[in-house]
Amino acid sequence: MIVLSGGTGTPKLIRGLRRLVPDEEITVIVNTAEDLMVSGNLVSPDMDTVLYLFAGMLDESKWWGVKDETYHTNTALGKLGHNEKMLIGDTDRATHIFRSELMRNGAALTEATAQLSAKLGVRARILPMCDEKVDTMITTPDGVMHFQDFWIGARGEPEVLDVGISGIETARATEAVLDALESEDNVIIGPSNPITSIGPILALKGMRKILAKKKVLAISPIIGNAPVSGPAGKLMKAAGFEVSSMGVARCYEDLIDVLVVDERDGADEGDFPVRTVKYDTMMTSVENSEALAGFLIGLFSNFG
Ligand code: GDP
Repeated sequence: MIVLSGGTGTPKLIRGLRRLVPDEEITVIVNTAEDLMVSGNLVSPDMDTVLYLFAGMLDESKWWGVKDETYHTNTALGKLGHNEKMLIGDTDRATHIFRSELMRNGAALTEATAQLSAKLGVRARILPMCDEKVDTMITTPDGVMHFQDFWIGARGEPEVLDVGISGIETARATEAVLDALESEDNVIIGPSNPITSIGPILALKGMRKILAKKKVLAISPIIGNAPVSGPAGKLMKAAGFEVSSMGVARCYEDLIDVLVVDERDGADEGDFPVRTVKYDTMMTSVENSEALAGFLIGLFSNFG
């Protein structure tokens, strides 16, 4: 099973999937377009969340960071007048230092992630979408800014005029990603932000065509006319999509076989450009996550 993931909605689904499928049989291809350097080390927010989830370390109340975390270094840096643009916990920072040291010594992100996974006892295969640096850039009336400057620095408040991904033209899906897609037929696009989490993965050269040949299920992160959380609505609108499960269908229609839309969504399944089914997609508990994962596995087994 391959899962395409960002850092919140899809990890909630993976939490349930792990109860039904052994970790060794799960490959997660993760968005890296929100990665950034903080105090000299590479923070990869979506990959860190997925790594911590499989390592049993994730703070599942926030869906980022390590549970029972301390912030001594961040506080001490603040006292020195070095205010970090992101709150980095001490254990979390160890991950970033370990990753960055490997990369400073020549390892690619994929290799550094494999070593981190091994050290953290992660048995799933966690694959960054590419090894090159790519950055989601947000155009606002005040100019272009990195996604994290928009989302954390400016609290997601500025009007969004456009969304782009710098570096994507020269980035390539890694050998590890291509090998995984070669050897596995079932792919889940989790309920992550279609523009800034899944969008960069799909924007890699050839990716949409590869996925179009697979059995692909997607889950809508939008219910009615609003995302469950986060800036997906604002970003979808700026990218020219309706903020609705129909808009999500439009983002993926060339490559998915089935779209799963929340049962609370008023849209009529018959109106969609792809096969659409309804189910409870609100993953407020691990039991909800497991039920949704089980439903997806059932859909795969019913493929003709
Ligand atoms: P990010 O990397 O932190 O932006 O996280 P993702 O892109 O992985 O996830 C954010 C998206 O997850 C948002 O668009 C939310 O609407 C969606 N989301 C979060 N929780 C749920 C849930 O329980 N059900 C569904 N259907 N979507 C969810």
